[in-house]
Amino acid sequence: MSELGSYVEGRWVKGKGKGMELVNPATEEVVATTSTEGLDFGAAHAFARDKGGPALRAMTFVQRGEMLRAMSRAIHAKRDELLSMAQANGGNTRGDAKFDVDGASGTLAAYADVAAELGETHILADGDAIQIGRGARLFGQHVFTPREGVAVHVNAFNFPAWGLAEKAATALLAGMPVITKPATSTAHVAHRMMELFVEGNLLPEGALSLICGSSGDLLERLGGQDVIAFTGSSLTAAKLREGKSVLRNGTHINVEADSLNAAVLGPDVEEGSDVMNLFIADVVREMTQKTGQKCTAIRRVYVPKGKVDLVLELLRERLAAVKVGDPTRDDVTMGPVATAQQIRDVRDGVKGLEACARIVFGSTTAESPIGVPAGKGFFTTPVLLHGANPQPNDAVHSHEVFGPVATVMPYEDVKGAAALVAAGGGGLVTSIYADDKDFIREAVLALAPYHGRLTIGSSKVSGQSLPPGMALPQLLHGGPGRAGGGEELGGRRGMSLYMQRTALQGDRALIEAIASKK
Ligand code: NAP
Repeated sequence: MSELGSYVEGRWVKGKGKGMELVNPATEEVVATTSTEGLDFGAAHAFARDKGGPALRAMTFVQRGEMLRAMSRAIHAKRDELLSMAQANGGNTRGDAKFDVDGASGTLAAYADVAAELGETHILADGDAIQIGRGARLFGQHVFTPREGVAVHVNAFNFPAWGLAEKAATALLAGMPVITKPATSTAHVAHRMMELFVEGNLLPEGALSLICGSSGDLLERLGGQDVIAFTGSSLTAAKLREGKSVLRNGTHINVEADSLNAAVLGPDVEEGSDVMNLFIADVVREMTQKTGQKCTAIRRVYVPKGKVDLVLELLRERLAAVKVGDPTRDDVTMGPVATAQQIRDVRDGVKGLEACARIVFGSTTAESPIGVPAGKGFFTTPVLLHGANPQPNDAVHSHEVFGPVATVMPYEDVKGAAALVAAGGGGLVTSIYADDKDFIREAVLALAPYHGRLTIGSSKVSGQSLPPGMALPQLLHGGPGRAGGGEELGGRRGMSLYMQRTALQGDRALIEAIASKK
């Protein structure tokens, strides 16, 4: 069993005391411990700001992109080792682990490509120059420059690899040093990634630090040039938003939180069609991939009234084929949830949903998971519920059960469906399955204000559609309201959190020369 350290002030440091335990959720064996007790978070912050910041800002976008490419390659070179770690510490099947680890290397590579487009510059023009005077000389131009503080990244337990990489890619490319904190319970993969970056000497000193365990008083020390990018529950997000740095010092904060993502089946979709098959496949994948522990997983399924029985039958048939057990076995398709607290939350959450829906498939106590010692592990089967008469104030519209759990509900018409989806209070992604253009247009107009992303599964794209639960580096990730109100990724849009937008006004030639300065 290893004792993990944190990488701060350009060195590995271990905390004092017994530390927190990282557990294998299939066997309940302890795989590592970690502590940050006694770490000097003030010194860690100052080192990142004073060493990492200037070093990154001296690099051009192209040079920062080369750094991201090297990080991506370092992860890919140790892919098998990282996948095994994700299986042991996260309860991931190999497929689940690939989604996280390949997502990490892929996102870093995608931002290396963005860097190549930005060129050998240090400043980003935001839009074109605008004439603001009477003559053709006085112009205005918006520009972005990197903030001179530190980006503190606080991540959720479900994506230790991708969570680190997707946030670090945008911040480092923008020119801000990063202190990243994975969730403690599944930090092993992120810790190993950091070791790979350090061993390969891939970043300037102070550009990336890792905190493995509690972040102590770090967040209270931040100022107006610093950024907090948080992913996790809305409960923790509320605490961070009320922190002194955010309230008094103007520390920028981006929140990616809970989301009751929905799938809406159009009335025109018939049994056996490509779109129906896509819809069923997406719902089952989103329920069971990573044992439903994805912020983008489908939690609510809205179906035209007359198609509910058919959809329940199709989903039950597919869910019956899911094999729950030891995620390292090839015959297992769904592993345990990540922690003892998670399985308690899933069981309590499903009880809560039973106030408005009844279970039509599965149980939160999986009988004899495959290849697991009797009585061990944090296992549930997929659980499908049916809410026959959904109301906006039902628990299904307010409580996220962070496991393989979804509820099928009927709707009357597109307005009714959109009102129920909106009752979720704002989400990361909703998917619409239909070919009827009027239905799709009306649904998009009604749902877009409540979402960061909408996916449309129609017959023209059914053969090449990407899963709604897959956050892509090119497209926005985030959502309003319950989802936290944040924005990440979306190509170069994701960099704006880490950069100050400034309006320059003056002589056109001068301003344009600065804005495009090599
Ligand atoms: P969590 O309990 O809120 O923890 C998230 C992170 O916050 C962890 O790193 C945790 O550290 C840290 N943390 C907790 N309390 C803190 C405090 N007072 N000060 C500083 N840091 C603190 O969430 P989780 O259980 O890991 O993740 C599950 C939730 O995340 C779900 O609700 C899910 O929907 C959401 N999620 C959202 C997205 C998205 O992109 N929108 C993505 C993934 C997950 P420790 O582990 O050390 O406690």
